[in-house]
Amino acid sequence: MMMTKLRIWGGAGEHGRSCYVFEGKQHRIMLDCGVKKEGTGQYPVFPPQKAKELTTVLLSHAHEDHSMGLPLLYKYGYRGEVWTTKATAEQLGSYFRSWHTYVESRGGELPYGEEDIQSITYRYLEDEVPSGVWHEACPGVRIMWGRSGHLAGAVWYIIEMEGKRLFFSGDYSRESELLAADAPGLCIGEGIDALPECKPKSSLVDISIMDNAYGMDIDPQPVKLERLRVEMEQTLLSGGHVLLPVPAFGRGQELIVWVSEQFPEQAIIVEPDLWHGLKQLIEWKEWLRLEAPARILHVLNSSRVFVPRDVAERISLLERNRATIIVTRDGMMDSPQARWYYQYLSDTRNMMNAMDRRVNMKNSVMLTGHASNGSFGKQLLERADSNDICIARHLIYKVHQGLLDVRRMLKEMPSKQVVLVHAPKLQTDLVRDELIKEGNNRHGGPAREVHSLEPGTMIEV
Ligand SMILES: [Zn+2]
Ligand SMILES: [Zn+2]
Repeated sequence: MMMTKLRIWGGAGEHGRSCYVFEGKQHRIMLDCGVKKEGTGQYPVFPPQKAKELTTVLLSHAHEDHSMGLPLLYKYGYRGEVWTTKATAEQLGSYFRSWHTYVESRGGELPYGEEDIQSITYRYLEDEVPSGVWHEACPGVRIMWGRSGHLAGAVWYIIEMEGKRLFFSGDYSRESELLAADAPGLCIGEGIDALPECKPKSSLVDISIMDNAYGMDIDPQPVKLERLRVEMEQTLLSGGHVLLPVPAFGRGQELIVWVSEQFPEQAIIVEPDLWHGLKQLIEWKEWLRLEAPARILHVLNSSRVFVPRDVAERISLLERNRATIIVTRDGMMDSPQARWYYQYLSDTRNMMNAMDRRVNMKNSVMLTGHASNGSFGKQLLERADSNDICIARHLIYKVHQGLLDVRRMLKEMPSKQVVLVHAPKLQTDLVRDELIKEGNNRHGGPAREVHSLEPGTMIEV
């Protein structure tokens, strides 16, 4: 007889539309409800009538691949709350606006209305309980949260329900330049004195949903950053500009701080929304590493950073300065700002002079995150035209977990089952096979069963 289940409505075997339901006899708890940035947008595959049956919804962070499907739940009749952090709720407005723009730019239509967005009611985790402490969310359900180091307001969750324990890593990184991460494994030991009605039988986690967006990749952040530094330096030394397209919140602010420290002589152009994000980030001290506020403040007071108010200011900055670093949204270059900069940088008429052409000056675009099929960024990467005066490169800034991170998390968080998520199926299969080969699936190993799943599947917990 099957009592507890985990349903995958999106996010496993793919990048995007993170959506899982932990389902027991009385409770159905949804984790995230995101979208996938392909075509006119893809949504989790749950049948609409399932929305009404949910008892609770927990949101890990503000990125669209975790959050932009939430209004659908209200459209289909969910009347409960969405548990998340204040910082996440504050960022969501900006994501709703850019998701709307994205869908329309692809000739699509949002599957929900403004009234559905307005219907979302939030419950703030920080108001209920500090991180790393158990909290009875409703009778028979206990939750614990902690910072996941991925974005301000981003969290992981441990849930205890009807005698089973689930861990959801959210998007997790312990290698952020600015954000602090809590190690979930250190917190859980405290949970054994559970309320009698939801006390799990062992200290093990029954099932983990674990961020493995980087698949088999094992490079730590310093290796990735050194590669990025070398590539940027090449362009800048030739007198060319470097364009860094980034999401509105998250690695954008981290990269602004990092480039300003790595290239102390260079002028940096930062688009207003990202600059605003940096000013906001310093206010969210509880999400930052101890040394981060001083690093951010240094950039905020820098005389080398310019925030253009309009196109005329952008042009004048680019004409006045050689070898500038430009930081603009969005990470996949679908935004008008990113397109504008690319057009400018790839137009030979905008090169400084004949000398620049002789010394083979080149501009470059550094994509530092996921590039979806069909996005402008992906098209640039695939073009690989050697005559182009603006070259695109793909050099990841780590905000997710690769193989080594998953292995470490499994050691700290021994789980009977683990579902690897956030990467395409074939990449996930490779990691599953590797972990099985290492013996992680045998009794006594960190995880007895490793899964590579797809949307629409369900497993027994
Ligand atoms: Zn994310
Ligand atoms: Zn994500």
